[in-house]
Amino acid sequence: MHELSLSNGMLEIIEKRALEEGFDRVLVVRLEVGALSCVEHAALSFCFASVTRGSVAQGARLEIRDVAGEAWCWDCATVVALARRGDACTRCGGYLLEPRAGEQVWVKELEVV
Ligand SMILES: [Zn+2]
Repeated sequence: MHELSLSNGMLEIIEKRALEEGFDRVLVVRLEVGALSCVEHAALSFCFASVTRGSVAQGARLEIRDVAGEAWCWDCATVVALARRGDACTRCGGYLLEPRAGEQVWVKELEVV
């Protein structure tokens, strides 16, 4: 499950930062989720809550900001917005699209005590 491995990855990042920066509790985790990452918010929140049990991030709130997707269209030879993976080019209707942005999930900021 995509959201589960993602949550584990997030926890790793958080625990590493907890060691480096010396905080012992995380209140809020601010994330940016790319539109093409295929991440479901509800599933991510659920998985994150379960993998962080007993960790510094236990009970932390996830704040998710969606980031638009972008793709290179080989037909138009230009960068176009792409709302979902598998959608056609918004300019020419073609499908020769190569995602350029919006495929990832980033931990942008932690609110800690
Ligand atoms: Zn196009």
